Amino acid sequence: MSAFQNVIGGEAVSAANASRNINPSNTNDVIGEFASGTKADADAAVAAAKAAFPAWSRTTPQERYDILKKASDEVLARKDELGRILSREEGKTLPEGIGEATRAGQILAFFAGETLRFGGESFPSVRPGVSVEITREPIGVVGMITPWNFPIAIPAWKIAPALAYGNTVVIKPAEIVPHSAWMLVDILNRAGLPKGVLNIVMGKGSVVGQAIIDNPDVTAISFTGSVNTGRRIAAACVAATPMKKVQLEMGGKNPLVVLDDADLKTAVECAVNGAFFSTGQRCTASSRFIVTDGIHDAFVAALTERLQGLVVDDALKAGTHIGPVVDQGQLDQDEKYIAIGRDEGAKLHWGGERLNRENPGFYLQPALFTGVANTMRIAREEIFGPVAGVTRVKGYDEALAIANDTEFGLSAGICTTSLKYSTHFKRNAEAGMVMVNLPTAGVDYHVPFGGRKGSSYGPREQGAYAREFYTTVKTSYTLA
Ligand code: NAD
Repeated sequence: MSAFQNVIGGEAVSAANASRNINPSNTNDVIGEFASGTKADADAAVAAAKAAFPAWSRTTPQERYDILKKASDEVLARKDELGRILSREEGKTLPEGIGEATRAGQILAFFAGETLRFGGESFPSVRPGVSVEITREPIGVVGMITPWNFPIAIPAWKIAPALAYGNTVVIKPAEIVPHSAWMLVDILNRAGLPKGVLNIVMGKGSVVGQAIIDNPDVTAISFTGSVNTGRRIAAACVAATPMKKVQLEMGGKNPLVVLDDADLKTAVECAVNGAFFSTGQRCTASSRFIVTDGIHDAFVAALTERLQGLVVDDALKAGTHIGPVVDQGQLDQDEKYIAIGRDEGAKLHWGGERLNRENPGFYLQPALFTGVANTMRIAREEIFGPVAGVTRVKGYDEALAIANDTEFGLSAGICTTSLKYSTHFKRNAEAGMVMVNLPTAGVDYHVPFGGRKGSSYGPREQGAYAREFYTTVKTSYTLA
């Protein structure tokens, strides 16, 4: 069995403990043994990143461009292989895995370009003879803690801007999917990063993640994951001495509004893609369909017919539309919420059954509830699986009010042919991203990503907006 070590200061460092990475499509398939690091490993990685920072932060944009571009080229050339690795460990389908690997390559290319595009500002001073310059500088050692559902794209969209703007990095990927992040780090290091600029320490959040957060030499933490973990991390960053900059991307309970005037086929495709593709395991997944009276029955009927035609099977098998749930813990959570929905009085209209396939895996039929009230737990709490519910409303105003009646605010979608309603929704949806006649999940890589309310905290990720987090502003005054 392959063994994967932590990479600290450019060297493979063996750990006393390891954890097995299991394929959720076939639990007999062990992908490899991955190091499970300690506090000492995390501290060594931070020390390496700190030592590498002065030289790396003074490299020219061309040096950083060349490395990021070379890594991008390799990721894109190996996208099929990387996509397979990803699908094998996370369970999204092979086309989804290859798509995500491609996105990682595109993100690296975008931030290679950012090294050249990014500059400062100059202002005339209010005082005679004085000039004012505003520049941005890297912030130092950035600690990154990532979730399991986008095992290569999320590490890429944190690492690439951090390096592009001259920072050094320690990343801890999710315990259950370390292979994709490990591959990305390997590709970047071989593309020419000096030793210590990019370090990976795999293992438990409570051990490695906590040690990164506790280390005073880490200047900033970029976290993606659940609200509970995010809240704890933010509190720890503020309590630290010195205080750390922090950026959190967390959960969602994203609404998809379907109005009477929607194109039915578009609405059904938005619903199926947004709620059930990637096994519903996307922070931007739509889990609340808010549907007006006139189209409700036709929408539910057409959606059910579409769900009946979806193949739930091994992620690596050709023809699979929906892969397995990522692990037993998440499967238990999905089934728990299906039971909660029934107990609350919603109707389990379709699906929700465990499925057996050729190999043992965490297979779950997508579940569609109808008769969901927005007060029910299945409408308020993030489930993070292939479970969605329909809430029936009288018209647009009620739909908008319900869409916004949530503690989250990541993505919100509307299906309508009305310019009036789509324009009003774009302005009034309380979400960081709004989709018109598009699924709530599925975004571009060159524009900001993130939400509001309980979904996000701190500056946006991705696109040129990433510089808000990965740089700090300096204002210099000169009397000539
Ligand atoms: P999680 O919060 O359990 O874990 C995320 C990461 O935090 C993991 O690497 C984990 O090991 C680490 N961690 C756990 N406890 C920690 C601690 N005490 N100290 C430091 N680190 C710790 O989340 P998950 O189950 O891996 O991911 C699913 C969640 O991620 C969902 O809520 C989903 O909505 C969210 N998510 C959000 C976005 C977004 O951009 N908004 C994107 C993807 C996933």
